[in-house]
Amino acid sequence: MTNLTDLTLAAARDGLRAKKFSAAELTRAYVDAMLAARPLNAFISETPVIAKRMADESDARIAKGEARPLEGLPLAIKDLFCTKGVRTTAASHILEPFTPTYESTVTSNLWRDGAVMLGKVNLDEFAMGSSNETSYFGPVENPWRKQGENKSRVPGGSSGGSAASVSGHFAIAATGTDTGGSIRQPAAFCGIVGIKPTYGRCSRFGIVAFASSLDQAGPMTRDVRDAAIMLQSMCGFDAKDSTSVDMPVPDFEKALTGNIKGLRVGIPEEYRVDGMPKEIEALWQKGADMLRAAGATIHPVKLPLTKYALPTYYIVAPAECSSNLARYDGVRFGLRKKADDLVGMYEGTRGEGFGREVRRRILIGTYVLSAGYYDAYYLKAQRVRALIAKDFNDAFQHVDVLLTPTAPSAAFARGEKTADPISMYLNDVFTVPASLAGLPGISVPAGLSGEGLPLGLQLIGRAYDEETVLRTAHVLEQAAAFKAQPEKWWNAA
Ligand code: GLN
Repeated sequence: MTNLTDLTLAAARDGLRAKKFSAAELTRAYVDAMLAARPLNAFISETPVIAKRMADESDARIAKGEARPLEGLPLAIKDLFCTKGVRTTAASHILEPFTPTYESTVTSNLWRDGAVMLGKVNLDEFAMGSSNETSYFGPVENPWRKQGENKSRVPGGSSGGSAASVSGHFAIAATGTDTGGSIRQPAAFCGIVGIKPTYGRCSRFGIVAFASSLDQAGPMTRDVRDAAIMLQSMCGFDAKDSTSVDMPVPDFEKALTGNIKGLRVGIPEEYRVDGMPKEIEALWQKGADMLRAAGATIHPVKLPLTKYALPTYYIVAPAECSSNLARYDGVRFGLRKKADDLVGMYEGTRGEGFGREVRRRILIGTYVLSAGYYDAYYLKAQRVRALIAKDFNDAFQHVDVLLTPTAPSAAFARGEKTADPISMYLNDVFTVPASLAGLPGISVPAGLSGEGLPLGLQLIGRAYDEETVLRTAHVLEQAAAFKAQPEKWWNAA
């Protein structure tokens, strides 16, 4: 029999139902793989006891013929989703001792559908970062390394632990969250699929907030079918989140028809940024050729305000972060530093509890929201944001989906960009515009760089049209036939 941890989520689902193996066996295989993968530092909390209990319950259900959609499938959960009775840290010192008394809606939906929790995975602190290097719990290693090199590569961020665990086959799939690219960019860096649905599709209830008008949950998986299956469970209206949309959730797996005849694919010229490596440009062209060969038509489109997306994002996101993170004051959650007076306690707690990047964002956010600067920065950014959304709307009058690279480079080396925050922020150049406009975006692994590292292509769709995004991604995936796997160097030790 093939190795259980090599099965996709769809194959494992079908294998469990056909009783080829049990949920307990599948979970055991993943728990072993998770423990063996400790050198990658992907997990903040391992929950093998909970996993065993959930798997046993799944086996009982399967025996009775009552399997639910994700019955017995072992998932890694980004440590930004509150899990009742299980520590939830957001990879921050300030939440290090925090154990929620409630469950996020997205994880509740996954457990409702029978999934098994393996543990909570590492991320950039409060999801602020593009390399998983801002975590209080230390950086995550990408399972992929440059050919012939023994040096660590970053897995991307902020959902770095999620991406590494799926890519390294020590979780069958994972949850991620995406504020400006945190699902799509790590998916690209680790050679897996990641979809950020339309803003409002997944409830934000119980997800530690970073920038509330941008944050969205989504699945990170081995392939597009797995993404469709998992997204189905994660989505849905939730009265506990006022921005959750009350719309029926389509059958996403059914959307994978393999047929894109007549589909109009837009190529935004503005995404041809200076200094983009030739091989990424070539891959982008190849992606367009593959979609054309499958029956789509290719059209250049204009998104003139693209160059303002990053500066706009880096005003809006810090502004919302400074407001959201005001709640960590040592009184209600997590860490508390004792002091002689209240102000001393606030200062001590926040000064010690937040890392450098989070403090930088709180400072920027507080500045752009302060009297005298609010109109010049925050209000202006909101206006530009509306115009960026309009750019996309205009483009979608002529095309059905947009094709772009996911990131301007392959996974970089650890420490390469930490000294220069701006160069780190530039990583989000292709993912941030769709985030500002609230649109669905997926990253599909499409090839290897000259150094043997995975590269992703991004598809962006109309609001609430995840079906077209998934259908196109599925065709792209078949055509690209990306089968490469990272060497499991951590098993050799
Ligand atoms: N890298 C971006 C940032 O640092 C996006 C992070 C995210 O999507 N959570 O803000």
